[in-house]
Amino acid sequence: LVFSLFWTSFVTFITAMSREELAVLRARRTFQTGKTKPLEFRLQQLKNLLRFVTERRKDIAAAVKKDLGRSEHGTELFETMGLEAEINLAVGKLAEWAAPRPVEKNLLTMSDEVYIQPEPLGVVLIIGAWNYPWAVTLQPLVGAIAAGNAAVIKPSEVSLHSSKVMEELLPLYLDKDLYPVVTGGVSETQELLKQRFDHIFYTGSSTVGKLVMEAAALHLTPVTLELGGKSPCYIDKDCDIAVACRRITWGKFVNCGQTCIAPDYVLCEPSIQSRVIEEITKNIKEFYTDNPKTFDDYGRIINQQHFKRLVALMGGGKVAVGGDSDESECYIAPTVLKDVTAESKVMKEEIFGPLLPIVNVSGVDEAIRFINDREKPLVVYVFSNQNKLIKRLIAETSSGAFLANDCLVHFTVNALPFGGVGNSGMGSYHGRHTFDQLSHLRSCLIKQLKMERVNSMRYPPHTAKKLGW
Ligand code: NAD
Repeated sequence: LVFSLFWTSFVTFITAMSREELAVLRARRTFQTGKTKPLEFRLQQLKNLLRFVTERRKDIAAAVKKDLGRSEHGTELFETMGLEAEINLAVGKLAEWAAPRPVEKNLLTMSDEVYIQPEPLGVVLIIGAWNYPWAVTLQPLVGAIAAGNAAVIKPSEVSLHSSKVMEELLPLYLDKDLYPVVTGGVSETQELLKQRFDHIFYTGSSTVGKLVMEAAALHLTPVTLELGGKSPCYIDKDCDIAVACRRITWGKFVNCGQTCIAPDYVLCEPSIQSRVIEEITKNIKEFYTDNPKTFDDYGRIINQQHFKRLVALMGGGKVAVGGDSDESECYIAPTVLKDVTAESKVMKEEIFGPLLPIVNVSGVDEAIRFINDREKPLVVYVFSNQNKLIKRLIAETSSGAFLANDCLVHFTVNALPFGGVGNSGMGSYHGRHTFDQLSHLRSCLIKQLKMERVNSMRYPPHTAKKLGW
């Protein structure tokens, strides 16, 4: 009878729980068994994740094609290849990252063992965005697994097909209790955010980032916020404008401009504006043909809501190139807007689409002022031949990252911490930085119970005689 009463109340308790609560509970219980502690277990899970990315490459690309109209090779180049590199790095370096890290000692601790021991945090919540639905969701997972955490994975509902494939296929490769995929929209995410986590890793807009941080504060849960913003791109009039514009065309229009680190707008002197437009026009034709709409390597806007938002941002601007759109397909042509003023609508929010406004400034002084008058962006871009000018922009502006004479490529250097500052986010990741971000770096000091005499000075009474003063 006692057993049956216990069983009935246990079943009632479990069935009263939401799917989100249950996923977190299972992950926490399994984490508490110590299953993730041995490095062999983490390596095995990382290798399984690698196998997932490699074996399911076609399923991943097909889902992204349906979500964003991106080509199969585009997804390989911008998502799966980077993921593979990140997993391989973690597999190769895990023993080194997880090992105790001896630190410099002081006089009082000279004969002691003093080191930092990275330890798992517990259960991490990973909330992904839709623009690179695999990279921004699974890349944090690599570090979460490597650091020995459990992780609840919440892909974006906006990239619906990717989210479904992730939910169906990932559990076939990873431990189901430790790394559950929870799908759903805003209400499901809100339900998840009510739960207690040991870290929340969020990628998305700054507006939702604030809600995530608010929810995390109730449990004193630390957060990593990978947000967005308007990344400026200053073109110095004396640089190689042809090369600069080729790289900017690529960085801006890849994934239809739906890239968090895409150059949001160009700042340049009026004397080079028409040359910049001419070069970008040439590159758009070369990269995407005369008709990007029918070209396989040019994608689509994620949904009607974003399509309408972008069309509204385009209105009122002077279209120099592109400007065509088709609502039935969520298609917007690669578009350049000229003579844009700081007051125009397109300069008031992150564009996150294939519109490139050009704002005229009188030179580098005004460009720096323009950047510093706004929220700190994810990236400050500059194109210049002058090292002095480049260094000046580094010294006089602030952003998550700084990149001179190219676009996006800092993302591929996993030794560089990737993240924002101020309104563009907090915390960072990639490579070892993800491991450290999702570990507790525990200070350890081991003393011997010998040599008590050397401590006599610290014990009261602190007389001048004893201290030798
Ligand atoms: P999104 O709408 O998919 O939202 C991201 C996540 O937040 C989703 O999982 C969603 O379920 C959740 N969410 C949405 N509204 C919520 C709410 N009210 N409460 C709780 N959870 C909620 O993506 P988005 O925000 O449109 O993403 C675009 C933004 O992400 C851009 O600003 C872009 O710059 C930024 N981004 C940043 C990075 C980076 O690495 N820094 C990468 C990609 C995208």
